[in-house]
Amino acid sequence: MDSEPNDQMPRLQASPVEISLVVPMNNEAEVIGAFFEAVVPVLDEMAVDYEIVCINDGSVDATLEFLIDAREADNRIKIIDLSRNFGKELALTAGLEHASGAAVIPIDADLQDPPEVIPQLVAKWREGYDMVLAQRQDRSSDTLFKRVSARLFYRLIGRLSEVPIPQDVGDFRLLDRRVVEALASLPERTRFMKGIFAWLGFKQVTITYARDARTAGESKWRVWSLWNFAIEGITSFSSFPLRIWSYVGTACALGAAGYMVYVIVRTILFGVDVPGYASLLSVIQLFNGMIMVSLGVLGEYIARMFVEVKRRPLYLIRDCWGFEESEDDKVATIPMTRRSTSRRAAR
Ligand code: UDP
Ligand code: MG
Repeated sequence: MDSEPNDQMPRLQASPVEISLVVPMNNEAEVIGAFFEAVVPVLDEMAVDYEIVCINDGSVDATLEFLIDAREADNRIKIIDLSRNFGKELALTAGLEHASGAAVIPIDADLQDPPEVIPQLVAKWREGYDMVLAQRQDRSSDTLFKRVSARLFYRLIGRLSEVPIPQDVGDFRLLDRRVVEALASLPERTRFMKGIFAWLGFKQVTITYARDARTAGESKWRVWSLWNFAIEGITSFSSFPLRIWSYVGTACALGAAGYMVYVIVRTILFGVDVPGYASLLSVIQLFNGMIMVSLGVLGEYIARMFVEVKRRPLYLIRDCWGFEESEDDKVATIPMTRRSTSRRAAR
């Protein structure tokens, strides 16, 4: 970040509130009450100015109505209603772009990210860290499948990714205003948050906590979406799957050349015997399989490029509560997202 670091400093003072919680919510009607009951006392105790930015990510239950009720009782609760379900990562992006706090804390609505940890995050931030990561100490509350798959995934991405991605760190963390601004300046559409956060760098510190089981409702991650999440993470943060094919191809070509020499020599010495259907067929199959796989890998990256090239907005806002009155450069009510782009254009 060599561009005008001083330019960002006044923004810190300019932040209307000190702490913003950003809460993506998809069908969380069952837990909303418990969530506010747990979070509000913690924040009140800290005696800070705060806001809770809730993003309704296309819920089909009463989540939005509950949020509106909650806002009537406490106008520090702000609501962004997305036009449909965009997925957690994009809901989070929407929230981060509209949060105004000097420090921003993304947190899950299901209380799996314990609110009691918030004061510790803030304390570290006050010590001068830009990003305070909350690391899960144990995942004993998750299912065995989720634990094993998460472990494998972190292993794999840790090996493949060009930037180290910390293990067992979710989206629950504290981000300083300048990290949030830096995040908003990234142009990419595919938001693999874990990777993006790692790529950003800044002064980071990690604290640990134990992850609780969901209070109510059920996890929205299905096996298939976890798989897609993993593919997206790998393809947007590593070009290794693309490059490996040149090595595999070279190895195969060398092997095939060797085999060819062997066949020719054998034919010269011993003449033609029974035509080898089996070997021919298996070699063809092997290579066809590899070609298919490598095409598939190419396809993954091309699909990723396709999404980037279309330059669609990351999400659309249907309605929002609590942002209208904010002055200056908040364009919260304009659904065309990406305020960083518009601001840059204005310069
Ligand atoms: N979430 C969301 N949109 C989605 C899926 C999930 O906003 O499409 C929210 C959800 O409401 C919750 C958070 O993301 O606040 C984490 O979701 P969940 O608990 O289902 O995931 P897990 O804890 O199993 O990783
Ligand atoms: Mg959860």
